[in-house]
This record gives sequence, C-alpha cells and structure tokens, in this order.
Amino acid sequence: MSCSLEVKEKLKPVQKTNLMGMPIAKVENFFAEFGEERFRASQTLQWIHQKGILDFESMTNFSKSLRRKLTSIAEVRPPDIVNCEESTDGTRKWLIQLNGGNCVEAVFIPERGRGTLCVSSQIGCALDCSFCATGKQGFNRDLSASEIIGQVWLASKSLGKFDQIASKCITNIVMMGMGEPLMNFDNVVDAMNLMLDDHGYGLSKRRVTLSTAGVIPAIEKLGNVSDVSLAISLHAPNDELRNKLVPINRKYPLSGLVSSAKRYLDKMPDNRRKITIEYTLMDKVNDRSHHARELADLLKELPCKINLIPFNPFHGAQYKRVTDFAMYRFRDILQQHGYTVTIRTTRGDDIAAACGQLAGQVNDKTRRQERYKQKLGEEQPVKMLM
Ligand code: SAH
Repeated sequence: MSCSLEVKEKLKPVQKTNLMGMPIAKVENFFAEFGEERFRASQTLQWIHQKGILDFESMTNFSKSLRRKLTSIAEVRPPDIVNCEESTDGTRKWLIQLNGGNCVEAVFIPERGRGTLCVSSQIGCALDCSFCATGKQGFNRDLSASEIIGQVWLASKSLGKFDQIASKCITNIVMMGMGEPLMNFDNVVDAMNLMLDDHGYGLSKRRVTLSTAGVIPAIEKLGNVSDVSLAISLHAPNDELRNKLVPINRKYPLSGLVSSAKRYLDKMPDNRRKITIEYTLMDKVNDRSHHARELADLLKELPCKINLIPFNPFHGAQYKRVTDFAMYRFRDILQQHGYTVTIRTTRGDDIAAACGQLAGQVNDKTRRQERYKQKLGEEQPVKMLM
C-alpha cells in the first residue's frame, strides 16, 4: 500500500509556479531562491506585462540555461477568454473562464482620450447588495492574483497593446467588476501593484481605483500598503436605508465608514486627493430631495466627489431606474451644497456590461442563486434586461 502511494507521489506532475500574478518583490524572491540575480525580476515583468510574452524560450535576454530552468519549474498562465462582445458604443466585454466552469467578466470602456478597464476580483460576490445582479449569482471563491491581473493582460492583448498596434489603450483600471475587492485583499493588492509598477502596466495611482461597499478594517489596512484611488459605494445617506440596500452596513455603519474614508486620505502624502462616492439612483428609493440634502450633510467633512449612477435594471430586479427629472434634481441639490458631481453615463448596456450587470457564470456555494431563481419562479440563470 505505502509502496504504491510512493509511486503515485513520484508520478505526480510538478506544480509549476505561475508568475503571471506575482508583483516584483515576489518574483525577486522567486529568483533569489535559486541563486539568480534579483534584476531578472524586472526583466520578467517587462516580458510578461509589456511585451505580452508567456513562454520563457522567447525571453531572449535570459541565458539558455536560465530559460530551460524556468520552463521546468515555472509558467506564465493567464485565464482563457471564452467570449468577447462589443457594444454599439464601443464597449467590449470579455467572458473569462476559470476552473470548474466558473467565469467572470471584464469590461473595456473607451472614451475620448481615455480607456477604462473594469476588472473582477471574485467569482460572484458574498455581499448581496439588493440592487446588484452580481450578488444574485451567489459566491464561489476569490480570484487569484494571476486571474485578476490576467484580465488586464488578456484585455491588453485583445486591444493590440503588445503588438504596438493599439488604437485604443487602457489608461485607467477600476476594480468595479464582480466581487468585493477588499474581501480578497492580498490578491487584489498584488494585482494592483502590477498595474502600478513601471515594469508592469505603469499606471499612476490616480488611475487605478478600488471600489468597496465599505469593509472598514480592510480600508484601514489598504491605506497602510497602497495609495490607489478609493471609491465607496454609498447609495444611501442614512443607516436605515443603507442596511436594506447594502447589508454589510449593518456590520460597518455609515459614520464609521465616512471616518475611515477620511483616514485613508489622511495617510496620503498628497492632500489634494479625494474619495469618489458612488451613489446608484433608484426610482423613489434613494432619489428624493431629502436624500440629497441628507447626503450633503453626511459628507460635509470628507473631501470627495460624487458619482451618480442611474440604476441599471436586470431581470427580476425590484427597483426601477431613476427618472431624469429626479436625477438632475438630486445633482443640483448636491451642487448647490458645493459638491463636484458627475453622472455616470450608462455604457455597454446592450451587452449587459453596465454597472451591476456583470454576472459571469458562478457555481454558487451559498445557494443564493437558487433561492433567487425560486423567488422568480423559474430556472434560467439571472439574465439582464437589454
Ligand atoms: N463590491 C464593490 C465593487 C463593485 S463596483 C463595490 O460595491 O463597490 C460596482 C458598482 O456598481 C458599485 O458601486 C455598485 O454598487 C454599482 N452597482 C451595482 N449594481 C448596480 C446596478 N444594477 N445599477 C447601477 N449600479 C450598480
């Protein structure tokens, strides 16, 4: 018995180290472990993230023996694209396959002079915000750092960046896809380090934004290790309403959330930074004048700009899109209180790529998807309204 086990052990293929999601410090350690110079790490990052090279044999500034060694112990493996859709407005959405039939989505939104990539951090989401399609899919697991930065790599490749033929390029990245990035802290921080690294994607900290529903302890932690832009999904100006829309508010209520956002800014050396407040407007739910006034009051000590998002409907959703009248009224009240307010134009909704519409394919471990389907009295997966 023990003998056959030993044989099996020997036959097991060697698990190769995937360098795709490793920030520079980890690649340096990887090289140091087998006595290789640390500067190989920056070269490796450039091959992978700037030239799009995945096989070590093509990394021509490495000696033949180093290439052979790397091939035997390591790999550079992004996830697979299974589908790509392009909206009439130029927005592109990729369906990205992970193991076990799970898929997540990444979206590229081109605008004049910039291109924003929206990246997922988890398969599904555990937070169950009542107005978000991703939440209805339930939750499977966190994405690895390779799977997170792999979305950036795949989008860059698909947009022609590595061949230097890109007519559109990624100038901004927002962690606003599927999942709650702060519930997958270490992998998200590793991936964001690669977005910021000059040997990686070289984006400035102002152009990488992490959006959170408000996991207060993780906001504190983030401020100690990173200085990316922070967006908070607020959606309600008081705890009573926010408890219904964003259930994590019961654990981390508003006053603590606003002060932790302020502390995040206080840690930044640059005192002109602002928090982005995201506020999804739903008809007659959180779009009244008194909500706007209450919001203005809540945020008066916080350097912030407010981004209003008209609710994007999905099948079975219990909310309706805000009317234009209520949306502009809401904006005007905030502006009268001195806030900078932008309205997020709905992009890519013809391919269900707009905010809160990303659903991917989640093998739910929470049974929430099943319960949601039962509630709707049907068996199809959550589908978006086109
Ligand atoms: N979990 C993180 C990251 C998701 S970001 C967070 O909550 O911030 C996605 C953004 O779109 C969030 O601000 C989310 O609240 C918003 N959103 C979710 N569903 C939406 C919908 N149906 N319509 C408009 N915005 C939505």
